[in-house]
Amino acid sequence: MHNDCIFCKIVSGSISSEKVYEDDDVFAFRDINPVAPTHILVIPKEHFSTLNDIPENKLNIISKIYSAIQKIAKKEGIAESGYRTIVNTNSMSGQVVFHLHFHVLGGRQLRGLG
Ligand code: 5GP
Ligand code: ZN
Repeated sequence: MHNDCIFCKIVSGSISSEKVYEDDDVFAFRDINPVAPTHILVIPKEHFSTLNDIPENKLNIISKIYSAIQKIAKKEGIAESGYRTIVNTNSMSGQVVFHLHFHVLGGRQLRGLG
């Protein structure tokens, strides 16, 4: 728990969010400023500032996150229609919250990557 991290506070419940999934290691909630009809943020409960900061011996969190994403996509009804997962890392990507998060976007036709 990082006291000054907004997503750590969401995991602990001290900041409210619309939770869509939780297990021992992973938490997911709706983005406050959605850019698609389904826009969910999937995060490790443990604080890693960016993808760069996961130590080698903890990389199994990535498969736990993708396992959660499979379940979330099915539950949200976007598994078959299609969805995109995005991880922004550091400033040139546009990362603004420095607690690792996977965006899951779906429910409309997405194009391009810009
Ligand atoms: P980034 O640009 O860092 O990849 O994305 C951060 C995302 O977090 C943005 O899409 C933003 O809307 C979302 N966000 C920031 N603060 C909050 C918050 O307090 N609650 C929720 N649910 N989403 C947030
Ligand atoms: Zn955090």
